[in-house]
Amino acid sequence: MLMIPGPTPVPEQVLLALAKSPIGHRSGDFTKIMADVTAKLKWIHQTTNDVLILTASGTGVMEAGIINFLSKGDRVLVGENGKFGERWGEVCDAYGINTERVKAEWGQPLDPEVFRQILEADTEKSIKAVIITHSETSTGVVNDLETINRYVKAHGKALIIVDAVTSLGAMQVPIDAWGLDVVASGSQKGYMIPPGLGFVAVGEKAWEAYKTANLPRYYFDLGKARKDAKKDSTPFTTSVNMVVALQVALKMMQAEGLENIFARHIRHRNATRAAAKAMGLELYAADSCASASITAIATPDAEKIRSTIKKHFDIVMAGGQDHLNGSVFRIGHLGFVSDRDILTAMAALEGTLQILGHEVSGAGVKAAIAVLNS
Ligand SMILES: *Cc1c(COP(=O)(O)O)cnc(C)c1O
Repeated sequence: MLMIPGPTPVPEQVLLALAKSPIGHRSGDFTKIMADVTAKLKWIHQTTNDVLILTASGTGVMEAGIINFLSKGDRVLVGENGKFGERWGEVCDAYGINTERVKAEWGQPLDPEVFRQILEADTEKSIKAVIITHSETSTGVVNDLETINRYVKAHGKALIIVDAVTSLGAMQVPIDAWGLDVVASGSQKGYMIPPGLGFVAVGEKAWEAYKTANLPRYYFDLGKARKDAKKDSTPFTTSVNMVVALQVALKMMQAEGLENIFARHIRHRNATRAAAKAMGLELYAADSCASASITAIATPDAEKIRSTIKKHFDIVMAGGQDHLNGSVFRIGHLGFVSDRDILTAMAALEGTLQILGHEVSGAGVKAAIAVLNS
């Protein structure tokens, strides 16, 4: 049982769709599937802009989302309060983009006021983009994208480029309502399908920037992807089986409804956090900035808990990244997750703590039930 922040569990209907023989990526049958999948992707992205499908993991689409709209030496602000924020700064370094890292401690959210000050001071409009990780998976912190984006909009010139890999399909990311320019996500997170596809939504302002952006690009040239997407196709052989599986997954999501999906993720976050607190565990992120898709728990027993819950209950939880390795473990609760899964995981966690010699009273499961039934 996977309780990690990707890959996430895959429903049986999706697994069965994956088992079908591949069909030609230039066939009429596949073109029809692409048209339907693209329409459904726009629905879940809450946008009428382009949503392009790339055969790549989340990092690949995020790299595409950065390099297609910028030029060498461009001035860019990168929000950095965890592993993924750091990664986007490294991508910029690799391409010779001139970054200013706007940092917060790991476990803390980015401070929108710092962005406001830097953006307001930029009267010459030299800042070309602001790169933000919405849900920082390494810490379980959700950044205040809505407010930061408001300051980017007030600046007028800079694009906002968003890593929504653990928020899209799990939390509110209303692309058109907020006017987000570039938003990247990946198949193995909120989409209920395995790793291998990435998605990037691109708005008109970003396409304007594309015209003059001069960084090298070939496979990840989004202009090429856009041209072919207009014909419900892709420039290169896409993962046809994954697209077929995605169609099934998106149909399930449409049947559930966007608001219900978001409410379910919040309920599962609240149940997980209430249970952890009742078990005497320390939550790494504060309630005010807790991601709906992932909960990080700080404990010196992190690795013992992970190996014991795997051995006794066959549940996989994620470890801490970088300096948090050994002192944090992370519970993924995004995508195809039900109330039953949360209860199972919390009961197993309580059982694990007992095996490790903690005083256990059942308070964790009780707290989870209280949230799930409220
Ligand atoms: C998983 C993840 C990614 C993408 O990672 P890949 O391994 O390349 O799919 C990017 N950002 C965040 C916040 C993530 O959780």
